[in-house]
Amino acid sequence: MAINITIWNENIHDKNDKVRAIYPEGLHGAIKAALDEDEQKRFITRAALLDQPDQGLPDEVLENTDVLFWWGHVAHDKVDDALVERVWKRVISDGMGMVLLHSAHFSKISKRLMGTVCRSKWRESGDKERIWVIEPGHPIAEGLPEYFELPEEETYGERFDVPAPEELVFISWFSGGEVLRSGNCYHRGNGKVFYCQPGHETFPTYLDTNIKKVLRNAAAWAAPVKGPVPTFGKYGILEK
Ligand code: ZN
Repeated sequence: MAINITIWNENIHDKNDKVRAIYPEGLHGAIKAALDEDEQKRFITRAALLDQPDQGLPDEVLENTDVLFWWGHVAHDKVDDALVERVWKRVISDGMGMVLLHSAHFSKISKRLMGTVCRSKWRESGDKERIWVIEPGHPIAEGLPEYFELPEEETYGERFDVPAPEELVFISWFSGGEVLRSGNCYHRGNGKVFYCQPGHETFPTYLDTNIKKVLRNAAAWAAPVKGPVPTFGKYGILEK
């Protein structure tokens, strides 16, 4: 069964010449292209943008999304609280997966799902990032080398104020000296959430072969499963 994926992007930096030179179709376009390259053709992808009606996510889109990718940075506050609640409910109740990308760590939906402040250190000095894959048996690690490098990324550093990940797949080291838990898995209600730190808009991160693999692996991992619908509340005795 195909996995329906929506890539939500605030699409603001994407209009800047420097970013357009790297991502002519926008960050969402590059992320979509990476998912569309899937050899197993597991994904049906579409983009959703902040300036579209219903901020890109009317009910008919959200209800037909199995995994929602989220890229946001300067417009976190512009996202309607009511939309954040609808997204949160889709994760908690319906098991929709979420992949929070780069600066989406500080989005309203990230803070809602994590329940913490979600801040870190940061610096735009174009440090090299070395990403260590520390759970080689995890589905998100499939096909990756023991470590891989991005020649330039935005540095994010610990302390990263998120809950301890249930599964920590990546730890990153930056050439300026910082480290970060950079590939973090959580369950929230019936849904799964993956935070993936690389992806600053002025670097070609989403064109990197390994990162593209991470996006595909994360999409497959975060997809909902058809589990039982639990019963809550007062419950009759089963054994006669
Ligand atoms: Zn950034």
